[in-house]
Amino acid sequence: MATGNGTTAIALRDLHKKFGDVHAVDGIELDVAEGGFFSLLGPSGSGKTTVLRLIAGFETPTRGTVTLAGQDVTRRAPFERDVTTVFQDYALFPHMSVEQNIAYGLKVRGASRKEQAERVRAALESVRLDGFGARRPAQLSGGQRQRVALARALVVRPRVLLLDEPLGALDLKLREQMQTELKELQRDVGITFVLVTHDQAEALALSDRVAVMNAGRIEQVGTPGELYESPGTAFVASFVGTSNTLTGAAAQLIVGKPGTFGVRPEKIRVLSEAGEHDRRDHSEAHGTVVDAVYLGDSTRVVVDIDAGVRFVVVRQNLDTTAADAHALPGSRVLLRWHRRHNIPLSTAT
Ligand code: ATP
Repeated sequence: MATGNGTTAIALRDLHKKFGDVHAVDGIELDVAEGGFFSLLGPSGSGKTTVLRLIAGFETPTRGTVTLAGQDVTRRAPFERDVTTVFQDYALFPHMSVEQNIAYGLKVRGASRKEQAERVRAALESVRLDGFGARRPAQLSGGQRQRVALARALVVRPRVLLLDEPLGALDLKLREQMQTELKELQRDVGITFVLVTHDQAEALALSDRVAVMNAGRIEQVGTPGELYESPGTAFVASFVGTSNTLTGAAAQLIVGKPGTFGVRPEKIRVLSEAGEHDRRDHSEAHGTVVDAVYLGDSTRVVVDIDAGVRFVVVRQNLDTTAADAHALPGSRVLLRWHRRHNIPLSTAT
C-alpha cells in the first residue's frame, strides 16, 4: 500500500551538515513513514542532495542522528544500511551487460548463481526490460538505462530506495512516462521511496508526502494537496506552483485586512470592468492587461493592478481563441476571486 503501514522508515533528528562555512543542512527534523513515496523538493543548493547522502551514509553529519527502521545508523558505513541509491547519471558499469549490472549487488552479497539469475530475471520483468539482459548500457535509450538503474537498486530488496533527480536527464515526454512507471513500481514493490527533485510538478505528481526545503531547512511537510492549497509560507506558495502575493497597503485594500496573502492564478476570473458583479464573498481588483500569452489549452494573462501589484491569471481557453488572447493587452479589466482563495502566508523563513 502506498500510504505505508504506520511505522517510521527514516527519522532525522537535529541534523546538521557543514562544508566549511556552508551550512548545507541546518537543523532538520523529519519522519518518513514506511512504504510511501516521499519527496524532498527545493531549489538548487537548498540541501536536498546532502540530506539524501546523509541518509545513505555517503556523508557524516556535523551534528544530529539518522535512524533507519528504529536503528541509529549515524556512524554506519553505506553498505551497512538497508538503503540503495539511484543517481542522476545512473552510474551503470559500461563494460558489463544489463544482466551483469543488475546482478552486481547480489554477487557482492554472495548470492548463488541460481538465485542471481532468478532475481535478475524478476527485476528485469518489474521494469519491463525482459529480453534486454545481454545488451550493454551504450546500446540502450535514456529511459531504458534509467530502468536498469532502478532494477539494479531494487534487486537487493532494500528497505528504502533513494532517488537523486533520477529523471533529470530525460526529455519531457519520457519524463512524464517514467513518472507514471516510477509510481507504479513503488506501489508494486511497496518499499519506501525518497526522491530528490527541484521540479515541483514531479514532486506533486509522484509523492504521498513532500518536504519543501529552503536554505538547508525544511519549510513545510505535507501532502501535495496540503502544500498547494494551504502553503504556510510565501516561499512554499511561490515554489509549489505559482502564486500572486498581496501584502501591505494592497492587502488591506483588496483583502480587507493586514497581512500577506497568496492567490493562485487559476482561481481568478478576468471580467470586463463594465458589467454588474456580485461582490459578496469575493475579492476584486481593477487593473490593466500588460501581456497575454496564448498557451494552446490556456492563456496566461498578466495584469498590473491599480493598487500597484502585478498579478498573473491563468484561464482555460474554453472559448478564447489565439486572436482573442492577442487582443487583450491594453484593456481595462476587473479581477475577481472568492475570498477563500486568499491564502494567509507567513513571510518568515
Ligand atoms: P541541487 O538541486 O543543485 O543538486 P541541492 O538542493 O541538492 O542542490 P546540495 O547539493 O545538498 O543542494 O548542496 C547544498 C549546499 O552545500 C550548496 O551550497 C553546495 O554548494 C554545498 N555543498 C554540497 N556538497 C558540498 C561539498 N562536498 N563541499 C562543499 N560544499 C558542498
